[in-house]
Amino acid sequence: MIFEIEKIFEKFSDKKAYSVNGEEYSYSELLKRAKEISALLEGKNSPVAVLGNRSFETMAAIIACLLLKRAYVPVDLSLPEERKEKIVLISNASDLIDCSGEKAKIKPIKTEENLSKNETAYMIFTSGTTGEPKGVPISYENLESFINWITAIEPLCEYEHASVLNHASFSFDLSTAAIYYAFAGGHTLVQLENTKDFESVFSVIEKSRTDVLVATPTFIRLCLLNKDFEKGKFPFIKCIYFCGETLQKSLVEAVFKRFPEIRIINAYGPTEATSAVCAYEITKEMLEREKILPVGKLSSAATEIEIENGEIVLKGKSVFGGYLGIKSENVFFENGKNCYRTGDLGFIREGKLFCTGRKDSQIKYKGYRIELSEIESVISSIEGTENCAVIAKRNPEGEVRLLKAFVSGKVEETEIRKKLSEKLPEYMVPKSIKILETIPLNKNGKTDRKALEEL
Ligand code: AMP
Repeated sequence: MIFEIEKIFEKFSDKKAYSVNGEEYSYSELLKRAKEISALLEGKNSPVAVLGNRSFETMAAIIACLLLKRAYVPVDLSLPEERKEKIVLISNASDLIDCSGEKAKIKPIKTEENLSKNETAYMIFTSGTTGEPKGVPISYENLESFINWITAIEPLCEYEHASVLNHASFSFDLSTAAIYYAFAGGHTLVQLENTKDFESVFSVIEKSRTDVLVATPTFIRLCLLNKDFEKGKFPFIKCIYFCGETLQKSLVEAVFKRFPEIRIINAYGPTEATSAVCAYEITKEMLEREKILPVGKLSSAATEIEIENGEIVLKGKSVFGGYLGIKSENVFFENGKNCYRTGDLGFIREGKLFCTGRKDSQIKYKGYRIELSEIESVISSIEGTENCAVIAKRNPEGEVRLLKAFVSGKVEETEIRKKLSEKLPEYMVPKSIKILETIPLNKNGKTDRKALEEL
């Protein structure tokens, strides 16, 4: 399938496309507004930064960029100013669509440098090890590979005019799963605007009669804390598409207890390979058989998956071509294919992919991808800091529950917190920051992380 946004939107024109803030918009309404915005952006090819998040104008701005084939760069309004500016700068965007108000406003940023036609559909920024966000450009070929895959997997391929709930920010690639699954199939994308107040979350689910939840395990765990989250109250929920972090058996058991007939998908993939590349449907029988849950079926994967020295390596159409302005040895080109070493440890058994952890200090915390070294690098840049280490405290199931920073030098906790809040999203600022006389080292002269974990 070639993803021709205008044709798709025309095909489903009177169907409900998008629901947000209690309002519903049809495919033709969304297309009409997108065309109005795109008329103001015509004549250029370079990327467009979209500053916004959970709103109709933001979604219309994204569609406008897709109509013009200008790459969109989601910039979440809630990020610190400095980080927003950095993302816009690194992306080389020449225009910004400000969706913070009632109507989107176009703000030209600079004259266009690159006039050649852009093959990039969007650029998502993830945590980078150097203290700067890392830009991941996703091409139309990547996106089409993803759309072909997600619209064909069971049971998502069975639904018609489904109501698809998205809780993620549009700057995280989990949201691309909800957006493109919904729009490619003429479904309704239901955007949660408030993800902290579960009374309002449940009221949106009830009102929209959500069929499919696209969610991180963290989000569903929070839903389950409320005993109302069960089949009796939400009989219409048919499926949860999990992605983004380890899906624990205990969580699946808890979901099946509340929703005995629900279908559960465990999808796996990094931003660098367009949201997800494979998935496995988790059944009740599987819970008894498997020690850890599979994250994908190789025979129906979107791209080639191999294990090299215990690491999951992705090759082919879903894989991006490299970070913006950063060379990485994990990205390479082989036999005409883009390849990416994910850093995820895993193995393949009987055609199933299993993911067992990371080979580096990248973690998932509350569903967010974080390089601990990015936090360390911001702390190290503060005057007076001698040494520092950031530790992720895990529960017995291996989930990160708390971030702790340890810092030595002539520096105050308040100053560190202020600097971190200026540079990093809120979820990357450690809850606990301790000043130590020295950071303990092991016999190899490296930070003794084990000793710090005991503190
Ligand atoms: P992101 O780029 O934010 O989508 O994060 C990608 C990373 O999330 C992967 O490299 C994995 O470490 C982790 N991840 C994604 N899906 C799963 C899953 N189903 N099970 C375990 N880890 C996952």
